[in-house]
Amino acid sequence: MLTNFFIAIKNTALDILFPPVCFGCKNHLENRDKFICDGCLASIKINNTLFCPVCQARLPENKRVCSHGLKKTDEFPYLLAAAASYDDKIVRDLIHSYKYEYFDKLSSVLGAVLAAYLDSVIKNSKLEIKNFSVTYIPLHLFRERTRGFNQSKLLAEIIAEKFNLEIIGALQRVRNNPPQAKISKNNRAQTKNYKKRQKNISNAFEIAASGKISGKNIILVDDVYTSGATISEAAKILKRHGANKIIALVVARA
Ligand SMILES: [Zn+2]
Ligand SMILES: [Zn+2]
Repeated sequence: MLTNFFIAIKNTALDILFPPVCFGCKNHLENRDKFICDGCLASIKINNTLFCPVCQARLPENKRVCSHGLKKTDEFPYLLAAAASYDDKIVRDLIHSYKYEYFDKLSSVLGAVLAAYLDSVIKNSKLEIKNFSVTYIPLHLFRERTRGFNQSKLLAEIIAEKFNLEIIGALQRVRNNPPQAKISKNNRAQTKNYKKRQKNISNAFEIAASGKISGKNIILVDDVYTSGATISEAAKILKRHGANKIIALVVARA
């Protein structure tokens, strides 16, 4: 209760301190709820295919075209659906503000980016998602309380609603590990980085809805795809509980 009260005060203060300007071009915005002008939103380059989770090759036919061996296929048991690139400054700013400045209202902007991307993959690559269920990367209860929301869950809810899909709280976070972004940020060796992140995230998740996963195709939502360690860890657990196809849906890939 008290937390909500302070969030309300903080939001009001933000409104006063920061009049509504566009995130991208800093021009004045008529609509306080919009955060970004139509021009900047339209300038985000939205992808139209799925990607290989290992080498990030485009997959215009929605199936693996590259071979990375059985071990890697087991480690990355999903296809990557990334709406945009983290190199895009507007995308980066939006995600950063969304995550770290607690702008939970930004979920509608990022949700719209995700939805536009899925629409374009459905149209261009003939992806069928009608028989998919949606789930998301959970936060530890403690962190969700502090932040006030789970950014991935909000995006998952938007996608489930827009595409009329079932949403399942499939996973729970049982370990409050440090955020992946804090792990070896400057480590240039990608493999080493993956291993460090993998170690940090291992055993962080448990299944929360085991009976609901078996035989299902799953869209697993998160905000950013960096090394893939978090999504791999979650996807492996979903697979162990009988998940069929998994598509990892993120706003941006780094
Ligand atoms: Zn703008
Ligand atoms: Zn590949």
